Amino acid sequence: MPQTPSSNMPVLDNFWMPFTANRQFKSAPRLLAGAEGMYYTDIDGKKVMDGTAGLWCVNAGHGRKRITDAVERQLRTLDFAPTFQMGHPVAFDFAAKLGTMSPGGPSAQLDRVFFTGSGSESVDTALKIAIAYQRAIGQGTRTRIIGREKGYHGVGFGGISVGGLVNNRRVFPQIPADHMRHTLDLDRNAFSKGLPANGIELAEDLERLVQLHGAETIAAVIVEPMSGSAGVILPPKGYLERIRAISEKHGILLIFDEVITGFGRLGTPFATDYFGVVPDLVTTAKGITNGAIPMGAVFASRKVHDGLMTGPENAIELFHGYTYSGHPVASAAGIATMEIYEEEGLLTRAAGLAETWQEALHSLKGLPHVADIRNLGLVGAVELTSRDGAPGTRAYDVFVDCFRNGLLIRVTGDIIALSPPLIIEKEEIATIVSILGDALKRAA
Ligand code: PMP
Repeated sequence: MPQTPSSNMPVLDNFWMPFTANRQFKSAPRLLAGAEGMYYTDIDGKKVMDGTAGLWCVNAGHGRKRITDAVERQLRTLDFAPTFQMGHPVAFDFAAKLGTMSPGGPSAQLDRVFFTGSGSESVDTALKIAIAYQRAIGQGTRTRIIGREKGYHGVGFGGISVGGLVNNRRVFPQIPADHMRHTLDLDRNAFSKGLPANGIELAEDLERLVQLHGAETIAAVIVEPMSGSAGVILPPKGYLERIRAISEKHGILLIFDEVITGFGRLGTPFATDYFGVVPDLVTTAKGITNGAIPMGAVFASRKVHDGLMTGPENAIELFHGYTYSGHPVASAAGIATMEIYEEEGLLTRAAGLAETWQEALHSLKGLPHVADIRNLGLVGAVELTSRDGAPGTRAYDVFVDCFRNGLLIRVTGDIIALSPPLIIEKEEIATIVSILGDALKRAA
């Protein structure tokens, strides 16, 4: 159906859009102009339910007054302050707050916090901390990092060097990487609810790589406890425990990339809590400020932190940081966000909805072209069969159809990913599934 151009349409030529087919988008743009609670409003005033919490980040829903007020107050008080050889109370307060709610609880001692500006920066920071730590404890030959096939760790050179999404690396083949292979056998696990039963043996691939390269060359292994961007790939039962055991045995640090799973997505504060597996470093971003202000943070264990707090007292322990590390406005937004999460019980709210979510999503089984359905906490994926010779086009059509009918979903290839704000009500879960189901029928 041809669209009449909206009178509210801005000039589109200059903004080079990220992760977007710019020419396709600009020929039929979809622009959001407002947001409140579970809904976006487009530039023509149409309401669109947010089925993706923005980009996995608006966990407390849109337009939270407490965050707005905190940001405004902070901008009026202290708009910016350097945190290189200087400090300001808000960053310390936020780090202390995060320290009280750190991944794995107090016994995990993952409560030392390095602030960044995004998930990609958190990943690069964690990789550098891991290598620097090994060197500081006399393990300077450990410079390799092992990532995973289909891993997504942002788009910095560090992140893509350990990531395994082919599209992220294809035109940058010079990036070095040692990948640990890990593909989940979807046939064996198709339509499994929650964690797949099969595949724990895939963890043994880490042992194989350690033997191949030598433990003395490997600083860390990085995995997403649950891969989001690759299309919601869930770890088989026991897999992460095995990865932890193998890495520990060989003196290799374990990094959990919790940029998506951090702050309540799985029904626990972090995936670290969900799986009961404690890594050495945890990367976060997104939900840390409810998406309102760009920010990220790396949680480091005391062991790793203290290992680097050595040498002369006047020497910088880690020559690393960003202009915006611990930005006062982002920190203020983060504190307000944590207060909302705590007061409203949002970090565990997904647990109470997970069953409803699971049954609603799996009701789509049997619709045309639905090849698999996966779910965990308040994350879901509906994988479609690809059209011959045109992979991704079927899911894209469903995405456009859903948006037209009032629902924002996310597509990666032919996988539809869903991750609504954690404030979602049961009736809204039903709405998501109903709009998506109709779109799937039309796509047939
Ligand atoms: N790591 C993971 C697991 C992610 O999902 C993402 C973003 N989706 C990133 C890192 C990168 O975050 P950012 O886009 O904020 O750089």
